[in-house]
Amino acid sequence: MIGYEEAQALVCKHIPPPKKEKAPLFAALGCVVAQDVRSPLAMPLFDNSAMDGFVFRSADTLQASPENPAHLKICGTLKAGAATVYLRPHETWRIMTGAPIPRGADTVIAKEKAKVVNDTLLLYKPFLSGHNVRHKGEELKVGERVIGKGAPVHPALVGIMAALGKKEIEIYKKPRVSLIATGSELAAPGSDLSSGKIYDSNSFMVHAALMQIGIRPVFSKRLGDQPKKIRQVVGHALRESDLLILMGGVSTGDTDYVKPVLSEFGVRSIFWKVSQKPGKPIYFGKKGSTLVFGLPGNPAAVFTCFYEYVYPAIRRWMGFREPFLDSRSVPVMESIQADLEKSLFLKARMERLNGKATVRPLHRQSSHMISPLYETNALLVVSPGRSVEEGQKALVHLLPYEVGTSHES
Ligand code: AMP
Ligand code: MG
Repeated sequence: MIGYEEAQALVCKHIPPPKKEKAPLFAALGCVVAQDVRSPLAMPLFDNSAMDGFVFRSADTLQASPENPAHLKICGTLKAGAATVYLRPHETWRIMTGAPIPRGADTVIAKEKAKVVNDTLLLYKPFLSGHNVRHKGEELKVGERVIGKGAPVHPALVGIMAALGKKEIEIYKKPRVSLIATGSELAAPGSDLSSGKIYDSNSFMVHAALMQIGIRPVFSKRLGDQPKKIRQVVGHALRESDLLILMGGVSTGDTDYVKPVLSEFGVRSIFWKVSQKPGKPIYFGKKGSTLVFGLPGNPAAVFTCFYEYVYPAIRRWMGFREPFLDSRSVPVMESIQADLEKSLFLKARMERLNGKATVRPLHRQSSHMISPLYETNALLVVSPGRSVEEGQKALVHLLPYEVGTSHES
């Protein structure tokens, strides 16, 4: 049986090279930029005022002194958005932040520092050229590279694109993802439970995890353990998706129909079973360019397998250079017993104690238990046969979101 690192490497190896598309700015949020972006404009686009104040020629102030102030005639007000005007010698204009500097003018003084008598501005000392002026091109030259290929699109990047006048951005495509939960015991939250049934939590958890990384599944279905129905939906999903996530029914139980159905459709198995706990019977296969994950149905197994395999697969598909969960080496607050054969992914909580990061495994580690995921912010990875003593460092994979604590009321 393969180990988790080998399984992760196999997943990455089968992700096709990312494909580009143009996306509107908001749709691009959370994606990766697929092409360098050069500025089509100088920034600022024209000389403009950095202050609300008065604009004039510095040359008119060269002889100014407390005894002999320069007298400049106030011609009017220049607001942001106004077209450029011409300023003659011994004139000044009131100017607002962002308004274009008049041709002929070269300096601005703040409103608070100005002495105005009727329609005249009095200046009691010389002012240097360029005072409080934001110069054309001082931030960016035309053609300068502003954004590099491979950059994640974040809110500020959206703002930068808008500042360059662009309403679209070239990004790598997201995969089309489908979800299928199988299990005759599963009922929809909100419905009444008959004997032997449980609520389907996995489809909701995985659907939400996808939404958090900007993926809206093309469809999500909950099916009983009926081969005919599974066959019908899997056939459709394989045609419509780049990535199909099945949950439940991938083991060897009498009602585990997922793998036989996938093989009927010609999905090629890349691996089945990874030496790990939870989530040992995870399946990964491929048909054409469609990737198929079969995640064992216990909620902690679904959760772990999603973040260790599916999440990086999707991120790699989307062009992220570092698709995996962030990792750290952090001292553990209590000793942890390793398994002899399997890697353990323990639901854990990383915290700062007196400024130092520490990690502790949470209670209720069994794979059928979902409630501790509430405060899980990390998966603590314990390699086979490598027990960890209190205070020693262990590998931690950080989950990509914030969580609450059990102490909260
Ligand atoms: P399976 O992988 O189908 O053998 O399921 C393993 C365990 O996970 C069983 O106890 C199932 O009832 C449970 N399970 C399977 N699917 C779900 C689901 N969608 N939501 C919650 N529990 C599930
Ligand atoms: Mg089942």
